[in-house]
Amino acid sequence: KVVTRFAPSPTGYLHIGGARTALFNWLYSKHTGGVMLLRIEDTDRERSTDAATAAILDGLSWLGLTWDGEPVSQFERAPRHREVAEELVRMGKAYYCYATPAELEAMREAARAKGLPPRYDGRWRDRDSSEAPAGAKGAIRIKAPTEGETVVHDRVQGEVRFPNKDLDDFIILRSDGNPTYMHAVVVDDHDMGVTHIIRGDDHLTNAARQTVIYRAMGWDVPSMSHIPLIHGADGAKLSKRHGALGVEAYRAMGYLPEALLNYLARLGWSHGDDEVMSIKDMIAWFDIGDVNKGAARFDFAKLEALNGVHMRRMSDADLFDIFIATLPYLEGGPAIAERLDDRRKAQLLAALPGLKERAKTLVELVDGAGFLFTERPLPIDEKAAALLAGEAREVLRGARDALKAISAGWTAAAAEAAIRDYALAGGYKLGTVAQPLRAALTGKSTSPGVFDVLAVLGREESLARIADQID
Ligand code: GLU
Repeated sequence: KVVTRFAPSPTGYLHIGGARTALFNWLYSKHTGGVMLLRIEDTDRERSTDAATAAILDGLSWLGLTWDGEPVSQFERAPRHREVAEELVRMGKAYYCYATPAELEAMREAARAKGLPPRYDGRWRDRDSSEAPAGAKGAIRIKAPTEGETVVHDRVQGEVRFPNKDLDDFIILRSDGNPTYMHAVVVDDHDMGVTHIIRGDDHLTNAARQTVIYRAMGWDVPSMSHIPLIHGADGAKLSKRHGALGVEAYRAMGYLPEALLNYLARLGWSHGDDEVMSIKDMIAWFDIGDVNKGAARFDFAKLEALNGVHMRRMSDADLFDIFIATLPYLEGGPAIAERLDDRRKAQLLAALPGLKERAKTLVELVDGAGFLFTERPLPIDEKAAALLAGEAREVLRGARDALKAISAGWTAAAAEAAIRDYALAGGYKLGTVAQPLRAALTGKSTSPGVFDVLAVLGREESLARIADQID
């Protein structure tokens, strides 16, 4: 059975790269009928916060990336990390090192002088702890192989070879008794039964060191997949300007979880020419071996276009539900949420088919729906004011009379018939009548179809808004 895990460090929001790593783990576990575990890597006590953990869980929940079982705290497992480190010492696979800070600094200096990365020279590797200075607390270092190479069989990167002469005897347990990150990850992945590690390729060199620990313990090395990081549209490392934001920023910008997941999945992975995918499609089609090695580029325009497609594909009822649930987070949303009584809910639902044709995000939906929530007299924007100037008021007066005369039900079809007859009789093009009408009804120059607007607003409110502009 496949067991994947997402292992974020709670030092900030769930950023977009982390969300994609979580998504790939989640898709792979769903695709194979396995599970995805969640481990909070909170060993760094200085930088880890509860607020960050909460933000990460919230981000995952919003995206629907569910995990199995309880989240595991890495920090709470420190005693177990210590136990394994000590076991490695007993097995002769690791040893206590009593090198002083000054000695370590001298080693770093020496390496720097030769232009080499810092490395520990192994001076305690074959010495006995009985030689330790009295009272000194040693750190535990792994005995790394010195010859040959360590090979990481990566399902995305292929076979990656690391010469063992480059791996020094790195620390697994610090002299204060705390595990290093490198060691904690291996012990946790083993104990949690993780079969597949899927994470960013910035961890690829760690994979070699972690392999050394697995081998020393005689544990199976999980399947490894190091996925390329996300870059900006210009190819540079992803920065805030490029979209390296927390997922809650994407929620506030009005993106749908499904669209964001679709977009993230397609960053570095493809399935034929399929661009638009539902979550079901992604689960059915995803395979980690199909992820590309090259860096993926983040492109806001593509995300926005894809979001628009998902919005239009959705049923009005589903889009309505998600819109209402997201309102408090959207720019301009809280003001609408406050005024959403039953009548306006019904109006909104009725206006949705027209609104979603013109919106690529939920924020644009808020914008488009604004006319439902504004009190009379409506603020009229500049473009709308131009549409209401001059002869337009005369035309509007006639349109008002035609609408007033509707005797059967007040529907979009009835309004359309009345306005078309009026335009025909007066020798106007339809737009000559419809544009000032729209401006008076919505205060804007763009809106859903004007007959839909009339139907949604209802007779009384429509006539009153028109009257505000001509009387
Ligand atoms: N905590 C690490 C990170 O957030 C992930 C480590 C791992 O997946 O092994 O980058």
